[in-house]
Amino acid sequence: MSGDFLALAQPGVQQLSPYVPGKPVDELARELDIDPASIVKLASNENPLGASPKALAAIREELAELTRYPDGNGFALKTLLADQCRVELNQVTLGNGSNDILELVARAYLAPGLNAVFSEHAFAVYPIVTQAVGATAKVIPAKDWGHDLSAMLAAIDADTRVMFIANPNNPTGTWFGAEALDEFLQDVPEHVLVVLDEAYIEYAEGSDLPDGLDYLAAYPNLLVSRTFSKAYGLAALRVGYGLSTAVVADVLNRVRQPFNVNSLALAAACAALQDAEYLAESRRLNDAGMQQLEAGFRELGLSWIPSRGNFICVDLGRVAAPVFQGLLREGVIVRPVANYGMPNHLRITIGLPTENSRFLEALTKVMARG
Ligand SMILES: *Cc1c(COP(=O)(O)O)cnc(C)c1O
Repeated sequence: MSGDFLALAQPGVQQLSPYVPGKPVDELARELDIDPASIVKLASNENPLGASPKALAAIREELAELTRYPDGNGFALKTLLADQCRVELNQVTLGNGSNDILELVARAYLAPGLNAVFSEHAFAVYPIVTQAVGATAKVIPAKDWGHDLSAMLAAIDADTRVMFIANPNNPTGTWFGAEALDEFLQDVPEHVLVVLDEAYIEYAEGSDLPDGLDYLAAYPNLLVSRTFSKAYGLAALRVGYGLSTAVVADVLNRVRQPFNVNSLALAAACAALQDAEYLAESRRLNDAGMQQLEAGFRELGLSWIPSRGNFICVDLGRVAAPVFQGLLREGVIVRPVANYGMPNHLRITIGLPTENSRFLEALTKVMARG
């Protein structure tokens, strides 16, 4: 007799559904039997600029060392990050994407009987890492699509070990200001590790978003996670980092895989971090594209959730799934967010001006069909 290996999985895992990524370009190209180059993908908050030439050069150079294990301590990258983020080397944890950092936190601090608190419409990886280790996810209803920080505080109990908060949040793009963050951190009990997920923070520079790094010294229960996947344009390489006290970093380093960040990613991240021009261009392109999409939505009479990320959620005023399908037939991939409890919205990543236009034209066409 064979075992029921779904029923044998631990209960938290049985209740999970796999993460649904943006539809790959090649998959749609096969389905429609069209040239992949004619498809516009605005579905995974990827940087439309293409990678930094400096990062590409660093990768080429690193190829000569492919037979060797990477530097498991990521010394060069940690040194640059520590310098740029005004922390000590031993406060930096490197991850195979910042998703890895989220998972390390869960593995180190969560277990059956313990819980993590996060918001409704928050990043889909929070429940995955929480339930994967048998802990309970406490999902707090959102307020105006964003985090209800006081309700999240009220949900903390003796078994809460972790809070995941994203600023800005994905998929909603919503954010909170410095005053709200400060008040929140003051009120979080000392036994709760606050993971401040700043995957999009580079896009928000100069805005009303607080810089999580400014709070690290005052709050030993704070971990700031960041990534090279978005504004730095290296999503394929999988590299992110956490900044925390040295104690928390030491704990995370105990549970991570010895070589969790590969050598090409380490080299590229070092180069990308020093390419200020690329980052500035990413920001400029994003600001312009955000305005372009907002103007397009206005013209179509659609409302949207104001966003500080490199994406925006538009409210179609009706179930979005058929519109998503219609856009696919026009060769445009965006992201349905029904699985985030937002059946009437679509999330669109800011693309190049021509990609944004292609999307807006396709949306106009599909919406006109009714
Ligand atoms: C994209 C994203 C990340 C980054 O994921 P990586 O693993 O670094 O590619 C983390 N958090 C949120 C909220 C995101 O949207």
